[in-house]
Amino acid sequence: MAEVHSIKSKTMKQDDDFEANLAGDEGTTEESKASWFKRIKKGILTSTAEKKETPEGLWTKCPSCNYICTVTELRENLFVCPKCNHHHRIGSAEYFEILFNDNHYEVFFENIRSKDFLHFTDLKSYEKRLEETWAKTDITDSIRIAAGDLKEHHIVVGCMDFEFIGGSLGSVMGERISRAVDYCLQHKCGLLIICKSGGARMMESAFSLMQLAKVSGKLSQMTDAKLPYISLLTDPSFGGISASFGMLGDLNIAEPGALIGFAGPRVIKETIKRDLPEGFQRSEFLLEHGFLDFIVNRKELKEKIATLLTLFKS
Ligand SMILES: [Zn+2]
Repeated sequence: MAEVHSIKSKTMKQDDDFEANLAGDEGTTEESKASWFKRIKKGILTSTAEKKETPEGLWTKCPSCNYICTVTELRENLFVCPKCNHHHRIGSAEYFEILFNDNHYEVFFENIRSKDFLHFTDLKSYEKRLEETWAKTDITDSIRIAAGDLKEHHIVVGCMDFEFIGGSLGSVMGERISRAVDYCLQHKCGLLIICKSGGARMMESAFSLMQLAKVSGKLSQMTDAKLPYISLLTDPSFGGISASFGMLGDLNIAEPGALIGFAGPRVIKETIKRDLPEGFQRSEFLLEHGFLDFIVNRKELKEKIATLLTLFKS
């Protein structure tokens, strides 16, 4: 019996080692150490910029209605499901392409980078997490600030990337928005912030929370200068952002079906010990309860923003 047990544990160990080897880690048993395949460098090192474009004819399935179409078709439809109008999650590059004339814009403040000043460690150290994220994507932090022309208006667009540590709000996002406001004041133009975030970045703790006050204060300068600030909430917009500058716009608008809230539905349900109404925290629900000004389809986004900017000017 004891022998059977030891054989079983030995095969399990080999399995573990095999997985470790795939991940680029070194195994512990003699068998895996002497394996014929040895990975010299750890992990996958190709950055997003070096990756090949999505090949033609790649298929994708809508998570909402299971409609299957090619990625090219979906892209042409601005990543909105042609059948059920489900708005797929997209990043800053796609939003900039949708909004700016001829996809022409200038990105600012990319040199501002996060630092692990608290030496925070959860599953891995914050420093390591940052380095891995930078290696994996060509995004430098959870928000990108770009300026360019949208129809006849010059505008600054700050767009969050969920891909970068859940679009979390850290000191870099705070500083970049703050400088974006300075740019707006200098060039007398409007600001659009596209929210897509899980909330504050816990690895920066109080420094992250301080950004809420900093950004809110900075945005009041926009009001003083009579310049418009529009907040577009997309799926998902959670935590501190939805509780502060995400809702501080002269207009707070949202994409259809976006989840917007402070705490997630599960946490709320456990706290109040009641079932939540249907469609709770979806943008349609928030519109009905007066939290939003209107809901905008991605295909009409550029047109609507241009109209709003014209109205603000007059
Ligand atoms: Zn669909």
